[in-house]
Amino acid sequence: MTEANKTEEKKGLNFLEEIVEADLAAGKYKSIMTRFPPEPNGYLHIGHASSICLNFGLTQRFGGATNLRFDDTNPVTEETEYVDGIKKDIQWLGFNWANEFYASDYFEQLYTYAIDLIKKGLAYVDDSTSEEIAEQKGTPIQPGHRNRYAERTVEENLRLFEEMREGRFKDGEKVLRAKIDMGSSNMIMRDPILYRIKHARHHRTGDQWAIYPMYDFAHGQSDSIEHITHSVCTMEFVPHREVYDWLIEKLEIYPSRQYEFARRNLSHTLTSKRKLLQLVNEKYVSGWDDPRMPTIAGLRRRGYTPESIRDYCERIGVGKRDNMVDAAVLEFCAREHLNKIALRRMVVFDPLKVVITNYENEGELLHSENNPEDPEAGTRPIAFSNELYIERDDFMEEAPKKYFRLAPGKQVRLKSAYIIQCDEVIKDAAGNITQLNCSYFANSKSGEDNSGINVKGTLHWVNAKDCFPIRINEYDRLFTVEDPGNAEGAFTDYINPHSLKVVENALAEPALKEAATGDRFQFLRKGYFTLDPDSTGQQLIFNRTVTLKDSWAKTGK
Ligand code: ATP
Ligand code: MG
Repeated sequence: MTEANKTEEKKGLNFLEEIVEADLAAGKYKSIMTRFPPEPNGYLHIGHASSICLNFGLTQRFGGATNLRFDDTNPVTEETEYVDGIKKDIQWLGFNWANEFYASDYFEQLYTYAIDLIKKGLAYVDDSTSEEIAEQKGTPIQPGHRNRYAERTVEENLRLFEEMREGRFKDGEKVLRAKIDMGSSNMIMRDPILYRIKHARHHRTGDQWAIYPMYDFAHGQSDSIEHITHSVCTMEFVPHREVYDWLIEKLEIYPSRQYEFARRNLSHTLTSKRKLLQLVNEKYVSGWDDPRMPTIAGLRRRGYTPESIRDYCERIGVGKRDNMVDAAVLEFCAREHLNKIALRRMVVFDPLKVVITNYENEGELLHSENNPEDPEAGTRPIAFSNELYIERDDFMEEAPKKYFRLAPGKQVRLKSAYIIQCDEVIKDAAGNITQLNCSYFANSKSGEDNSGINVKGTLHWVNAKDCFPIRINEYDRLFTVEDPGNAEGAFTDYINPHSLKVVENALAEPALKEAATGDRFQFLRKGYFTLDPDSTGQQLIFNRTVTLKDSWAKTGK
């Protein structure tokens, strides 16, 4: 049974789809509205893909619309580069948002909401330090207590909050807090901070603001402004739901509702923008789009298709318990799709020269199918001559009985060409094999073979007269352990030293000269590859997306 089959089959509705279906059936909403709310503090990763497929999937299935909303309330870590990267990635995954919004678009509105809360006696300006606030909060088993600032009058709070906005105070000098319940069993309800002072330049509002809303005072309110019906987030926000609902009730604004689902993590990698940023900054990888990164940009450069990523998200499904999905599942999805669409090409990674001593033609054009899975892909001409290259490890001088590749006196078929037999092994002075002299069987041509010779092995090859050198990046998993983020010590201790192996001067058949960025190929018997955007006219570079079979478990590298 394959890895992917082992994961739960998702045929029916997931639990969120069931909720939406029931809400629509009960007439609670005429149509639904969802949003995908990334914080632009890094590039999207495979975990975000689950959230994207879920949010956009709901409105694709039930109608309505999905907004893209940048949750840009933290000026220090957010950048326009990330905004652009995120938009590109969502579009590439195949989704279109109804509106592009920014939480920062609502700063003025949120400020008005805060004034409203102050006027209702439900928010106050607190001068305590963050340590004092933490101490006064109590513990999960001990209630917290209010300090004297909570006694401030509405007028005083209004004046101080305005002065906070005007930038009269330094960072950390004051905060605005909701006045909820210091005795609540939910720690987040113990007078949560709504606004903090931060004299920092924001990527969109510049220096306009000296105060910025906290997550709890931005997220639900933004949902409400956009009339989001089903606000889907991950499980760590369960305790925030009470504040979410409290604020909507007290502000008397559109009643969006929050629903939580479990994070999806992928084995042998990290799904945290902060940690991925560290890999980039400390140069463990070449950038956010390094093909070993679990980012959408990295997966794209690695040769993954949007279809394979969507298929992966569908297969792993939506649930309530966090889970670690084996990287083999994502790789399986890539193979499934690439097998259907990738053009077949021949590339010899470690060439060994073969001379066909009895081939007397100048050469001839043969044909090879571009994709046996897709008859419409047709065939391409490949030239055959008396000088070829095969893979060095497809030959063995002293072969065991069951060796079906080439060995002295043995016969193999060359893909889409002839059966050859190895007659002589040529070595240099040091004893290295430099050439094989072979003979071919003229009546064994593929498709019209009447030689009567039975061979078990078929080898890929290239023609010495027209092949050209390429560089190949063989990528493997970035980490040696399943869960580097939670392993003992630093996650950087677990980087796989063999995550990139470069093969210089592999020899490719000429059809690959026409490859364009984004084209995907199966190099016969080798795996799936795509052209890297760093390629130039002089040097084509191909990235290995996945091997043909799952070899990780066996070698345990
Ligand atoms: P990170 O720790 O990588 O920054 P995040 O949750 O802080 O993750 P956001 O930009 O806030 O990143 O996430 C946007 C949306 O994607 C949120 O709704 C979030 O819950 C969801 N999301 C993030 N990571 C995952 C994951 N691993 N699985 C499912 N959904 C995720
Ligand atoms: Mg976040």
